[in-house]
This record gives sequence, C-alpha cells and structure tokens, in this order.
Amino acid sequence: NTHEAECKSKAQKQVCKTVLKHFDAQYSEELGEQWRSARDVLLNPLSWQYGVLLNRFSDLTNLKQDLAELGYTNLFPQTHPESHSQTTPIHLQCFIHRDPVRIPTQIHHPGWLKQYYLLNAASLLPVLSLNVKEGEHVLDLCAAPGGKSLAVLQTATPGLLHCNEVDQHRHDWLLKTLESYVPPAQQHLLSVTHLDGRSIGSMRPGAYDKVLVDAPCSNDRSWLYTPDTHQGEMWLKERTQLPLLQKELLCSALAAVRPGGVVVYSTCTMSRAENQSVVEAVLASYQGVELLELEQHLIDSLSDHFCFAHFHPSVGQLVIPQKGKTWGPMYVSRLRRIY
Ligand code: SAM
Repeated sequence: NTHEAECKSKAQKQVCKTVLKHFDAQYSEELGEQWRSARDVLLNPLSWQYGVLLNRFSDLTNLKQDLAELGYTNLFPQTHPESHSQTTPIHLQCFIHRDPVRIPTQIHHPGWLKQYYLLNAASLLPVLSLNVKEGEHVLDLCAAPGGKSLAVLQTATPGLLHCNEVDQHRHDWLLKTLESYVPPAQQHLLSVTHLDGRSIGSMRPGAYDKVLVDAPCSNDRSWLYTPDTHQGEMWLKERTQLPLLQKELLCSALAAVRPGGVVVYSTCTMSRAENQSVVEAVLASYQGVELLELEQHLIDSLSDHFCFAHFHPSVGQLVIPQKGKTWGPMYVSRLRRIY
C-alpha cells in the first residue's frame, strides 16, 4: 500500500555527506547544542510528523472523529469565540499526532473539495503571525504549492487574496490546490498571478494590508537528501545567492503593503544568512519600517508543541525540530511599514 511504499522510500533516502558536513560546521556554530537534536530529526525521516489542516469549506462529517480514533489531537483546542483566551482563529483546525503516522493524501476530483491538507504544522506560524482580519487585502508573494494561502483562508475571509508564483509548473500546481480546496463561491476573492515577486512592489505600491513572503530558501530537509555529491556542491553554491533574492522579495513586499500594514517573512531553513541577516539588512536599508515581535501569547500557546530556538538578539523566531516535536525548521519575522 501507499503508506508502506512511502516508509520504504523514506528509509532508503540517502543523506548527502557534502551537505551534512556543511550543516555541521554552520549550525553547530549558529545553534550550538540545539543543532544536535535538530540533526537527529533531520537524519531520521521515519520520525517526521505531519499535521492535518482541515478545510472548513468541505464536508467534515466523521473526519474529526476518525482522526481522534487514530490518536490525533487538535493543535488549537477550540475555546468559546467570546472567550478572551482565544489565541487562534476559530476556524483554524490542525490535527497532529505524537507519532510519525501519516494519513493518505486525497485525490483531486473535479467538483469535490478536499477535506484536509498535510503539512509541517510549523508552517502555520507565519500565517498566524500575519493575523489576517475579515476583508483585508492580502498578498502571498511566493505562494506555490499553496499551503499557506489555504491556511490564510481558514483563518479569515479576506477581501482579496492575491497568490503569486514565478515558476510556471509550480503556478499550475498552485491553481490546482486552490481549485481542490476553495469553493466556487469563494473563488472571486482570489487572484492568482505568475510574476516575479520582486516586481509586484513597484506594480502595486501600498495596495495590501498584509503581505506574506514565504521565501525561496535552502530548505534544510530536502537539501540534506540531495541525490548526489555533485548536485550537493552545486546547491551549496546556489545557497550563497539566496540572501540577495530574499532581500529583494522582502523589499518588494514592503513596497506593496500600505503604511501601517504588516509583512511576514518566513523560511524553512535554520540558516542565519537567510533569516535574521536578511531581516537586519532590510531594516537597516529601508526607511520607515519597524520590527514587530511575534505576539507572546501566540508563542506561549504553541510552545508545548513547537521547540523555539534561543538566540540573541532575537530578530524573529525559529522553530527547530526535536525528537517527538519534529515540526520545523521554520523561521518567522514580522515587520510593519510605518510610513
Ligand atoms: N508558500 C508556499 C506554501 O506554503 O505552499 C511555499 C513557497 S516556497 C517556500 C517558495 C516559492 O517561491 C517557490 O515555489 C518558488 O518557485 C517561488 N519563487 C522563487 N523565486 C520567486 C520570485 N522571484 N517571485 C515569486 N516567487 C518565487
């Protein structure tokens, strides 16, 4: 069956020694002891957990009960909407399991909405940090395959959700995702483009209330499993080019957001050069922008599940994988345009 096939393919995954050597040198320096536990998780794909993000637009009859019977729990236990302790949007429901079990992905059928999306639960942190309110105009600058766009739509009904992706193949994949999860009656809220995200700031200055920059990055999980050494070396070279692209995308996002609006920058690498250093460089060069801490109540509500790295000074937050809490890597930083 597919689950067995997947376990087999994971067990056969080969670590690229060149990339591992590079990570060992860089991350033991940047993260110290915390790299040890993250390393153990990254080297053991059979330990990886999956989150099940429910689709509020689909028919969820029986699904929650089935998940509970399988041992899943809700990452965001629902509290009463009137309650002041409500820290996450009422519709956002992500089920997690303490073991690395995985339910099958659902197949696309035209005219039918998928009930759930499998993801690394730490991917919800940038979306929660964006904190979209009803009616807001939102840009997801680097959107494919669309996991975070979908999560945004679970948290609120924006006035506009503009999803952009530069790569043709990934843009098609993004369209497919949106079609499989969003009902026709909500599709008018969506605008999907196929542009270089670096140009959107000058094309639509100040047009959005919120912008998400889920930047292209050296995805630590997949780079470690680069099939051969030659490719591993090529990717290490490419890795040095990423911070420039990331800064340009972040500057474009800041131009696209209105004064007072919020930009969230995220990556799925632990690399300081692609995280804190990018944000620090943009803060130093871009006038009228301030750093916003992630809301403490959000961090508190998630710290039973996510392991937040400790680094000083803290520019953003980094979730690092740990045994039994294999979520991440996920870096998130929040900026506000003042004028
Ligand atoms: N947000 C997505 C999700 O949650 O499903 C994942 C985004 S992935 C980390 C980064 C994406 O940025 C890739 O699909 C990549 O093709 C795209 N990308 C790379 N360069 C870009 C650019 N200049 N403008 C827009 N998108 C870009």
